[in-house]
Amino acid sequence: MSLAGGLPATELYPVTDVQEAAHAAIARHGPAIMEYGPVEGLLALRQLIAARTSAETGGVFMAANVLLTTGSMQALDLIGKVLIDPGELIVAQSPTYLGALDAWRPRSPSYLPLDWDLTDPDFDAALARAKFVYSVPNYSNPTGVLVSQARRIALLDKVVEAGTWLVEDDPYLSMQLDGSPGPSILSHAVARSTGKGPYDGPVLYLGTVSKSLVPGLRVGWVIAEAGMIQNLARTKMASDLSGSLLTQAIALELMERDFDHQHTNVTVPVYRERRDALLREANLLLSEWFEWDVPVGGMFVWMRSKGRAIDTDALYKFAVEEKVAYVPSSVFDFTGEDRFAMRVNFTRSSPEVIAEGVRRLARAIEHYLSA
Ligand code: PMP
Repeated sequence: MSLAGGLPATELYPVTDVQEAAHAAIARHGPAIMEYGPVEGLLALRQLIAARTSAETGGVFMAANVLLTTGSMQALDLIGKVLIDPGELIVAQSPTYLGALDAWRPRSPSYLPLDWDLTDPDFDAALARAKFVYSVPNYSNPTGVLVSQARRIALLDKVVEAGTWLVEDDPYLSMQLDGSPGPSILSHAVARSTGKGPYDGPVLYLGTVSKSLVPGLRVGWVIAEAGMIQNLARTKMASDLSGSLLTQAIALELMERDFDHQHTNVTVPVYRERRDALLREANLLLSEWFEWDVPVGGMFVWMRSKGRAIDTDALYKFAVEEKVAYVPSSVFDFTGEDRFAMRVNFTRSSPEVIAEGVRRLARAIEHYLSA
């Protein structure tokens, strides 16, 4: 029984809509859609994403500002290859998405935790040396935290001052369980630019259909100033020649009719119910040992051991004995200090399965404490 994965609910996948979109895409484009594509991706989808971004941010975004990638995971990989020279410094929210740490490991970067207080002069000095700042402001993985608008603006100010880049990774935008997160950091970068031309700001924004549609399409994108897009595209060419035009065309069919937005009417109520089921059971059975903030979106509850009494790496053995899985904090941690929290997923399983998972976790904790 896994509360570990970071996956949406398979039973909510819009199978018929994807099937119809595949038919429509092949009928529309014919065999051309089965060729190797331009490395930047299907032009019509880049244009659609550019038009949406212009409407959402009030800026001017063209296809030249958009690179389609094999999920946002490939975007993280390309960013590592283009931006990080061996040993360079990255400032990142801590704890951080494991996939990003894995993608950048070959460059052996050093990391500095993002200090949201943003008043420490030492932090300013570090930021000036950093290659980029990495943030998942909407319902972060692993903590589920939503970064406030004030912090987004303050961080962007610091990034501009330091003359560095900011990577805004936003895979969970469609998973808004309570309220809306407000403007992206990219929107704030648009608002503070003075030129009227295409976007040329310091934010690289990463989007994906993995949560809004299905992960198996492997369609993601980077939005950035045009020169950065060219550099990333050159690197992508060396990596995979091109992404799949076919799955990009399927995503295009669905996004043209706004299906990705409408589909949240199906997914969000289910995810909300599952989050509430997890928290109800956890309040009953885990709150003696763990504390957490209620996530207002995304897929995870980040449970912190009260008084750092429970080492979640050591607890894991007992959880496996009870046949339940979570992800211990150590895997997301570049500081090497946090072994006292765990990431618990609520999107993948039914409320009943989640509740049983929590009961097993509670038993595992009791065995751990009495061992
Ligand atoms: N960034 C973050 C923060 C993630 O949690 C994930 C995976 N859910 C990704 C990027 C990669 O997503 P994908 O490649 O499926 O678009």
